[in-house]
Amino acid sequence: MGVMLQEFIEAPSVYACLICRAHIAKRDDVISRTFQGRLGRAYLTESVVNARLGEGEDRLLMTGMHTVCNLHCRLCDSVIGWKYVHAFDKSQQYKEGRYVLEQSRIYSIDQPVEVSADVHLLQLASCELGADVTSSMMI
Ligand SMILES: [Zn+2]
Repeated sequence: MGVMLQEFIEAPSVYACLICRAHIAKRDDVISRTFQGRLGRAYLTESVVNARLGEGEDRLLMTGMHTVCNLHCRLCDSVIGWKYVHAFDKSQQYKEGRYVLEQSRIYSIDQPVEVSADVHLLQLASCELGADVTSSMMI
């Protein structure tokens, strides 16, 4: 088997696969935490990484008929939720293209975010500015 490259999300809070700890989604991208999954509470989110889709199927959910694909962790292949491909009911179509993550299949990680290069440059620039002010005051 080839080496699986894992994508890392740079954000203060991410959801990761419970089994293999691969990053799955940014906590900021979660739209709703009150969804009902097949295994209990679930989250609706805008985008995912390290995931692959299974075969599409029509499924009758509490809110009507939907075409969904199972969402698998790309690294360990466990099912972590599903993607809404199509909602038959117009009032449910905001879910199309979005993902449901089963709360019992993911866990939340808080991670330190490195200072971005831009902030570093800004700090450097203000240091140099400070040095100039000092030298001109000395003249
Ligand atoms: Zn996994």
